[in-house]
Amino acid sequence: MDLDKMISSLNGFRADVNSRLSQYEPLALVLLPILTLFVARIVRSIFYVVSEKGVKSAAVELIMAFVKSVPGVKKYIDSEKQKVVDKLQGSTKSKRDGWLTELPSTGLKVEVISKLKEQKQKDVAWEGKCSGTVYIAGNEQEGHFSIINEACSMFAHTNPLHLDVFPSVVKFEAEVVAMTAKLLGSKEKVSGGQVCGNMTSGGTESILLAVKTSRDYMKAKKGITNPEMIIPVSAHSAYDKAAQYFKIKLWRVPVDQDFRADVKAIKKRINKNTILIIGSAPGYPHGIIDPIEELGELASAHGICLHVDLCLGGFVLPFARKLGYPVPPFDFSVQGVTSISVDVHKYGLAPKGTSVVLYRDHDIRKHQFVAVTEWTGGLYISPTIAGSRPGGLIAGAWAAMMSLGLEGYLKNTREIMEASKKIENGVRQIPELFVIGRPDMTIVAFGSDILDIFEVNDAMSSKGWHLNALQRPNSIHICVTLQHVNVTEEFLHDLRSSVQTVKANPGPVKGGLAPIYGAAGRMPDRAMVQDLLVDYMDTTC
Ligand SMILES: *Cc1c(COP(=O)(O)O)cnc(C)c1O
Repeated sequence: MDLDKMISSLNGFRADVNSRLSQYEPLALVLLPILTLFVARIVRSIFYVVSEKGVKSAAVELIMAFVKSVPGVKKYIDSEKQKVVDKLQGSTKSKRDGWLTELPSTGLKVEVISKLKEQKQKDVAWEGKCSGTVYIAGNEQEGHFSIINEACSMFAHTNPLHLDVFPSVVKFEAEVVAMTAKLLGSKEKVSGGQVCGNMTSGGTESILLAVKTSRDYMKAKKGITNPEMIIPVSAHSAYDKAAQYFKIKLWRVPVDQDFRADVKAIKKRINKNTILIIGSAPGYPHGIIDPIEELGELASAHGICLHVDLCLGGFVLPFARKLGYPVPPFDFSVQGVTSISVDVHKYGLAPKGTSVVLYRDHDIRKHQFVAVTEWTGGLYISPTIAGSRPGGLIAGAWAAMMSLGLEGYLKNTREIMEASKKIENGVRQIPELFVIGRPDMTIVAFGSDILDIFEVNDAMSSKGWHLNALQRPNSIHICVTLQHVNVTEEFLHDLRSSVQTVKANPGPVKGGLAPIYGAAGRMPDRAMVQDLLVDYMDTTC
């Protein structure tokens, strides 16, 4: 075959293909963009997953999705999961045997009180032995307990939703907020407004509200409709809750080698959708204060919100500073701080269910309120998440603050700061353990390079202690309260002996949680750990 012939036959073939293809041209014109879009979407979502979760966890997720689709594997995983859930619950459902499931047909009247007493006896003996949990001291603060209890019961049936009916609790709330704000850098009149806020049911509600308010404030101010927020890995899980509830994309960034928020890492994640960054003073896991001033500069430079989580530190740091402890700036005195959450029910020594959320000015806080004009129930306005609110708790918080006064808080702060230092120094002297970072306040977190720290935790539990397990790195902490002031030596003694027990007999003990914490930490498939937690909760409540 000569060359000319071949070329002409190829041309013929091409013409043939072209004419056939042109038949499909209209179709191709439609399909091609769709196909391109489709491919681009897949590529983009792969890119998203990888950039958000990192290559490793994205790959693990993909592999696990595949593995779980193999018949039999899912069943096996589920049965293993159930075993863990049973164990977390202290085994089986028999615990619920005998629980009431319906109303008594005849009311018990005053007899219920003895029933209550009966149940109360079954709670763990928490005096002196629980990390955090109950912040008020035992015996010597008996008086404090009874003052609060009396205040709560006196106002148990009030509700600030009806402000015209209960001006008393409305005043108490305003005063609790004002007294708290004054501790945290509020000046009577600052440029651009005045610090203001509300009482809420706890740290989580204060945080939820601060996040929601920041979102709506940034929408109004900057038109941000796809909000994102950036938090250090040490920030409380309430920010995850807020992100999920309020449809905000959450970036969790690593902390630096001192376990403080890494400002550079946060800066890298800021983009045009960023509404909010977070700093804690201190963070719950390690009791370490984030560099609030640097975060304030960053927030100011980008015109975004900065929330300072003072849930734990709000009623300690202002007093610690007055006592001469070195405390870096952490409140509204720092430019750029737009909101603060502070728990009165922690070191404010108020009854459980009380916290305060504060804003730099009224302009920001306005975005917290919900006003409804089209309801047949009338014109409605409510400041926080709850509608009706417990006036009794507000009165209880007011009573706690008023009965302690500045002097009371200073005395308490000195005691817990000293107890914490004793515990920190004691832990540092145990060669098998290391303290995480330099604790700024009253939380001491520690781990071990040579022992399973969760086994040490189990040994401590067997001696009646309730400490908190942490991860990344595996560690445990004690949040030192007034409950511990007189038991620091006992704590250190028990810790030293627990370390020796585990050293002599490493390995899980019966009924211990160490294997579960260990496994949960090592499990690369985080979705599975999440499932496990959900199953646990689902069968617990
Ligand atoms: C306790 C705490 C919270 C959450 O408070 P709750 O009262 O449990 O809802 C948030 N942040 C920090 C730092 C805390 O210690």
